[in-house]
Amino acid sequence: MSNKAQVIINESWCKGCEICVDICPRDVLIMEDFVAKVDDIDQCTGCMMCELLCPDFAIVVHPPEKKKKSVTE
Ligand code: SF4
Ligand code: SF4
Repeated sequence: MSNKAQVIINESWCKGCEICVDICPRDVLIMEDFVAKVDDIDQCTGCMMCELLCPDFAIVVHPPEKKKKSVTE
């Protein structure tokens, strides 16, 4: 069980387009040697934007597990 997000980057698939770095709303990702890298995973909300927008399917996001909350409608 993890309440922290995980972002896994397949470096051999990354072509260094920087899209993920640009769209991440929390500045989790950086470029290093023309490859995307996770810089600050603690800021990641697990929004999945980077995974969805990576043209090379090089990113897999495991969002944090949600705490069970009572639903109020
Ligand atoms: S969007 Fe994908 S291909 Fe582009 S830099 Fe990020 S991981 Fe690499
Ligand atoms: S899942 Fe969202 S917050 Fe986390 S690295 Fe990707 S774009 Fe940034």
